[in-house]
Amino acid sequence: MVEIDTSKPHPARMYDWYLGGKDNYPVDEAMGRQMLALDPRVPVMARVNRAFMHRATRWLAEHGVRQFLDVGTGIPTEPNLHQVAQQVVPDARVVYCDNDPIVLAHAEALLRGTDEGVTEYLQADVRDPDAILEGARKILDFDRPVALSLIALLHFVSDEDGAHELVARLLSELPSSSYLMVSHATADFTPEESQAATDKLKAAGVTLALRSREEFARFFDGLELVEPGVEVPQLWHPELGEPVPGQDDGVIPGYGAVGRKR
Ligand code: SAH
Repeated sequence: MVEIDTSKPHPARMYDWYLGGKDNYPVDEAMGRQMLALDPRVPVMARVNRAFMHRATRWLAEHGVRQFLDVGTGIPTEPNLHQVAQQVVPDARVVYCDNDPIVLAHAEALLRGTDEGVTEYLQADVRDPDAILEGARKILDFDRPVALSLIALLHFVSDEDGAHELVARLLSELPSSSYLMVSHATADFTPEESQAATDKLKAAGVTLALRSREEFARFFDGLELVEPGVEVPQLWHPELGEPVPGQDDGVIPGYGAVGRKR
C-alpha cells in the first residue's frame, strides 16, 4: 500500500490542482489557492511549463535522441513525456522517477506506451543520484545518448542539498551527445510575489529554491547550449507546438534551456 500524507501540501499534488487534475487533496488546493492569490497566473505558468517539456522532448526526438531519463515526473498528465517522444520515435525508451508516493500510485499511466518503446518508473529522490543511475542503467543503454529531463524539479532542491552537484553527477555517467533539458522558476521578474510564495511554502514545509538566470545557467556548465540558449519557457522553440492561451498576458517567471554534452 502506498502511504499518502494528506496533512501537508505536496508540490506534485498542488501542480496537479493547477493543471485541473483530480489527484490532489484539500490541503493542496488550499495552498494552491494561496499561491493564486499572490499571482493568478500560476495555472498558466504550469501549462506553459508542460508545453516547454513537450517542445523540448519533440526537439530532442527529432534530433535523434531515443532515450530519456525524466526526474521529478509529477502526476501523469497527458501527453506525458514518453507519448511525445514515442510519437516521433516509436521505440523511445523512457525512465521516469519521482520521490512522491502519489506519483508511484498513479505510475501505471506512465507505463502505457508504444509496443516498440519501453517505459519504466523508479521511486527515488534526486538527492540520491547514484540510486537513480543504478535504476536507469537497467533500462537505458548508457553507451548511447540519453536526455536527462529535469522539468520544474530543481526549484524544489536547495543549494544545501547540492542541486548543481547532483545534476553534474547524473550527467557524468551519460555519454557524449547526451542532453540536459531543464525548466525552473525564478524570482528575477517578480521578486516580491516570489518571496511571499517562498515564505508561505516554507511555513507549510515545502522548500522553494528560486534561482536567478545566472544560477540557472550554471546547471549547463560544460555543456553546449542549444539555440536560443536560456529563455523564458514559452520562447524556447515556439514553432514546435501551440501557444498556451494567456501565455503572453503577463510575466512567466521561469527559464528553460536544453544543452548538449560534448
Ligand atoms: N516534471 C513535471 C512535474 C513538476 S512538479 C512537470 O513539469 O510537469 C515537481 C515534481 O518534482 C513533483 O512531482 C515532485 O514530487 C517532484 N520532486 C520534488 N522534489 C523531488 C526530489 N527531491 N526527488 C524527486 N522528485 C522530486
